[in-house]
Amino acid sequence: MGGIDTNSNDTLIIARTGLPAAPPLPGPTLTKCARKRLQTEGVPQRGNCCISTTAIDLWERLFDEGHKADVQFHTDDGGVVYAHACIISMASPVMKGMLKKSKQKGRYQILSVGGVPHDAIRVFVRFLYSSCYENQDMADLVVPLLVLSHSFVVPQLKQICEQQLEQGLLNMENVIDIFQLALLCDAPRLSFICHRMIVKNFKDVSETEGWAAMKQSHPFLEKELLECVGHEENQTKERIRRKNERKIYLQLYEAMEALVHICRDGCRTIGPHDKVFKKDQPPCSFEACKGLELLIRHFAGCKLRVPGGCIHCKRMWQLLELHSRLCSDSDVCRVPLCRNFKDRINQQNKKDKTKWGILARKILRTKTIGVAPFFTSVYGS
Ligand SMILES: [Zn+2]
Ligand SMILES: [Zn+2]
Ligand SMILES: [Zn+2]
Repeated sequence: MGGIDTNSNDTLIIARTGLPAAPPLPGPTLTKCARKRLQTEGVPQRGNCCISTTAIDLWERLFDEGHKADVQFHTDDGGVVYAHACIISMASPVMKGMLKKSKQKGRYQILSVGGVPHDAIRVFVRFLYSSCYENQDMADLVVPLLVLSHSFVVPQLKQICEQQLEQGLLNMENVIDIFQLALLCDAPRLSFICHRMIVKNFKDVSETEGWAAMKQSHPFLEKELLECVGHEENQTKERIRRKNERKIYLQLYEAMEALVHICRDGCRTIGPHDKVFKKDQPPCSFEACKGLELLIRHFAGCKLRVPGGCIHCKRMWQLLELHSRLCSDSDVCRVPLCRNFKDRINQQNKKDKTKWGILARKILRTKTIGVAPFFTSVYGS
């Protein structure tokens, strides 16, 4: 096959970091009429067509019957496809050049095309005549058609092959081969889509024959892909870590809200001394209340109620201290020990202050609504 540069490593370079957005597909190739026809009638009887005139039938017949054909395509498997020099020369500039140098046998000019099956040549030449193809042919022969359309510079068919691959013909089994082909055939969008598929499904893809073959033929490409997979895995881990961290800060924030609410309004059975509890308390809207209620009950009754004594009490102490650091007005606050902690905080060393300050900021930031309703922005938001 002419036209494919198999030695060019330059074309094999892929992005190491981050995945840029795919370049847009080139504009529509169908005429307004043809598109309407495809939409309303579905697939025309003669397959998918990109032109909308009645000339299609004429071109199809000319190809099918080979009337006054003057070119023969010879394929490896001994097949022959007939064509007209004037038509294929107009459809492909490369074909035009090849015909100038081709051998003559009787009234036919002979073009030998190796490496692709006879059927692919037939479908390819038919497309040169009428821009038509059958869906099944496309599904079976998309790879050689992509190669042919690239080698003979038939951009319209090349674009259709790329679209068909992108819209369903690409799979785990062929993605490695198509990826390499896309790089060789200068199809950046397709190579990008393959690359994304490989990185996303690396476990499955790395078990295919295509991957094993590529390891042998293009170790450089394998190395590049492995680096991208590693990078992607790290990013996923980091995303999960950040998500979990945010969840913890959100839980702490909710506990802080519930603590203020219990100490100020009372909730179910626990509340300020002056609170009168009714038998049928309406259900509470604070998710964290139930757990906090249990913790407060424990704290009130625990014999080891010293910091570091019992894990539940330790947690309670931490919540009380955290509250105090977030609380904007300890003088009116009803949370126990709020003022005591504030006084202690003022005597604390700088290192401790910074540590708690960072935690407080992170908790407040989990609420994107800005300054939380229970706390003013002592630590910023
Ligand atoms: Zn409550
Ligand atoms: Zn305890
Ligand atoms: Zn307070």
